[in-house]
Amino acid sequence: MTTVIIGGGHGGGAVAGQLRQFGHQDPIVVVGEEPHPPYQRPPLSKGWLKGEVDGDGLLLRPRDWYAENDIDLRTSTRVIRIDRDKRQLTLSTDDTLDYDTLILATGARARQLKLPGSDLKGFLELRTIEDAEAIKAWFRPGFRLAIIGGGYVGLEVAASARKLGAEVDLLEREDRLLARVAGPVLSTFFQGLHEAQGVRFHFGVNIEGFDGLDGQVSGVRLAGGDTIHCDAVLVGIGAIPNDDLASEAGLTCDNGVVVDHEARTSDPAIFAIGDVTQRPMPLYDRSLRLESVPNALEQAKIVASAITGRPLPAPEVPWFWSDQYEVKLQIAGMPFGVDRQIVRGDPGEGRFAVFHLAGNRIVCVEAISAPPEFMAGRQLIGRATPVDPVKLADTAVSMKAVAAEG
Ligand code: NAP
Repeated sequence: MTTVIIGGGHGGGAVAGQLRQFGHQDPIVVVGEEPHPPYQRPPLSKGWLKGEVDGDGLLLRPRDWYAENDIDLRTSTRVIRIDRDKRQLTLSTDDTLDYDTLILATGARARQLKLPGSDLKGFLELRTIEDAEAIKAWFRPGFRLAIIGGGYVGLEVAASARKLGAEVDLLEREDRLLARVAGPVLSTFFQGLHEAQGVRFHFGVNIEGFDGLDGQVSGVRLAGGDTIHCDAVLVGIGAIPNDDLASEAGLTCDNGVVVDHEARTSDPAIFAIGDVTQRPMPLYDRSLRLESVPNALEQAKIVASAITGRPLPAPEVPWFWSDQYEVKLQIAGMPFGVDRQIVRGDPGEGRFAVFHLAGNRIVCVEAISAPPEFMAGRQLIGRATPVDPVKLADTAVSMKAVAAEG
């Protein structure tokens, strides 16, 4: 009984490993479009750009691990069609590949910016090792980098660029940073942090197009007449799920491949995990598409459990992290139904946490260089037990004590 995994990213690599760890002995094939074995993307915008992580340091597992564990890893290979009736894949190499069980781990791709001049030279996005390698060449004193999008990609690249001396102008359509993923207290904190490091922000911008010189981008033209001069543009305006293969095969998709609590798609022989999935979130009683490594790892464990007949793991509280300069951001939970917000600690001191409460229950914690608040917060979200808001706000009461009472 052959299991084929489409996607050689973090999720694809993890589910192959998890299956072997759970004692699955049947053939496993991983088909990945990139030329590398599965690697970790998070360091690409951080340690990798700053030269602190080398190529092998990015790999999820050593190169030899796949052969040693009898996993047929096919890199630089794209699946171009899924035939569900025959349970057969057509590959870019013109070969076919039969499966009994299929796992889609096709991830997401960077959203493109299509405006007059965006076909000039000097535009990059950040998703792959090759993208990061090309961006690295820009990081030198005096180089003028325009970043479009104030999400994680934009901010992490801005921090790495400033560390290595490049000039940074960051343009964001919203009126604050991280608008899609964090609350306003964090937006203000990160704005101050980056401004203190010399990043120039432009909020509420409407980009009309780009100017060029000898085929190379030289400026970002804004509605209203202003131009931001630059030597290159990094576009970090969000990610789109790679669900085309699935939808062409007739699987149910709705902003991602729709899966159930076992990560099974509308075809029982096909599972899907990671950024590409629209998944049920039992803790929040709704379905969501999450773009994060912990989410892919959780679903890898769920699928491996379903395939090997183990009980499903308990639902996890979703979490996210980001490193910028010396600051560590950790977020757990999702801010649904919030009616109160408690800030514990002083943002001015660079170490604090924002707790989002629905009634007396914490539903989300955003922690800045505050691991105890993050860890206890995550635990309390999972347990859904009420907390005493007065004690939660009081840094003289330890998080251990707050959690013990909750
Ligand atoms: P993102 O978090 O969605 O942020 C993109 C930002 O760009 C949004 O605020 C968006 O505003 C803005 N934007 C969109 N179109 C724009 C335009 N034309 N002009 C100016 N601003 C515009 O996406 P991202 O930062 O590109 O990240 C891509 C993916 O990588 C995500 O899956 C992210 O989670 C992942 N990633 C995660 C981490 C981490 O977890 N630490 C690090 C790196 C990357 P609107 O909301 O108005 O569209």
